[in-house]
Amino acid sequence: MTNINQKITPVGFPHFHYINEDLYVENIPLKILSEKLDTPLYVYSRASIRESWNKYAKAIKDKNVLICYGMKANSNISIVKELGFLGAGFDIVSGGELKKVIAAGINTNKVVFSGVGKKSWEIKIALEYGIKCFNIESESELRKISKISNILNKNANISIRINPNVDANTHPYISTGLKENKFGIDIEESLALYKLASTLPNIKIVGIDCHIGSQITELAPYIDTINKIINFAKKLHKININIEHIDLGGGLGIKYHNNDKIFNIEELLVFFAAKLKENNLHNIQIILEPGRSLVGNSGILLSKVEYIKTTLTKNFAIIDAAMNDIMRPALYQAYHGILPVYNKNNNKQYYDIVGPVCESADWIAKNRLLSSLKEGDLIAIESAGAYCMTMASNYNSRPKAAEIIVDKDKYYIIRQRESIEEIIQKELLIPIE
Ligand SMILES: *Cc1c(COP(=O)(O)O)cnc(C)c1O
Repeated sequence: MTNINQKITPVGFPHFHYINEDLYVENIPLKILSEKLDTPLYVYSRASIRESWNKYAKAIKDKNVLICYGMKANSNISIVKELGFLGAGFDIVSGGELKKVIAAGINTNKVVFSGVGKKSWEIKIALEYGIKCFNIESESELRKISKISNILNKNANISIRINPNVDANTHPYISTGLKENKFGIDIEESLALYKLASTLPNIKIVGIDCHIGSQITELAPYIDTINKIINFAKKLHKININIEHIDLGGGLGIKYHNNDKIFNIEELLVFFAAKLKENNLHNIQIILEPGRSLVGNSGILLSKVEYIKTTLTKNFAIIDAAMNDIMRPALYQAYHGILPVYNKNNNKQYYDIVGPVCESADWIAKNRLLSSLKEGDLIAIESAGAYCMTMASNYNSRPKAAEIIVDKDKYYIIRQRESIEEIIQKELLIPIE
């Protein structure tokens, strides 16, 4: 008989791996973690996060590049602290995320602030903490930031998020660089807004910003964007607006399937740096805002099979994780690999993996050929380090899962499992009259 263990390679390999039949994260078997900490449980690998960071660190060596982690991918303060310690700045999209950077004990001078709906208190705290740059998404926002800076007697560093109108070739919900998106300013209209910015009080223009989408696997959309942005920087130059940085945004894809191919980050940076040089823009700093690619394959969601339900047409494995824990399949029809935690050598069957939430959209995986499952078995949902826990909700009054980070043969709880009491505590009873 062939050994099926040889055939399954987790996308997070080597930090997620099998020893004999058991799935491990670094040196800890997931089975032990479920016994100690219960399920559903987010399990991250510290070594894997460091490896993802090191790929960027190697690619930016000897270049003027700042990596600002797009922290909405995973904003747990321990992950923020880890990446901040390694040298990352942060791309934030809310005042809450700024407060998390502060709570993690990380300096705010490498924070850039994106997002179309910045509120006054968020602008104020960002000014007070002296962030690196506001990425402006509209004229109204620009005027508001100028007004608040003026009142606080501070200068706001700004860049304008221009929309280069390139198709990132990704899912429509995570594509942001097309004319019809709500993000950024059309490249045709941006020059006028830069001119306006140069006349507003307490505004200092420092950069150009863009972000064309997420889970981008090909280099071509970035090349198009770089060409357009560099031309735009030259136009600014001509009217005496000299910028200090160009922010290319995030969006670099990860492998969800083992055979996915992702372009090489070093290739992108070599092209970008050469293009700047060619156009006499030597001293311009490059900023990248990767989120998913720093953490996505550094985590799994551990879950238990509660019931097997066989109907005329399907085998359902009903697990204890649901769309409130991991929304990407429901929201984007996203694919996540499913790994058996105990990889026994038996017959394979097709399964739909679904959660207990009362919605037909509550599925995690469809038509997956898996070693046959029984009630009580554990599975690991792969690629769950990014846009999973941060999108979790309490739908169906389900408490949010716990999160841990494994470091070799130790683990740290980085988010306690929520209790149902904590959910109820925030709600108030009306008097009956
Ligand atoms: C979401 C987001 C990012 C991070 O995107 P990834 O696809 O996770 O790399 C970066 N910048 C902005 C403005 C974003 O909205």
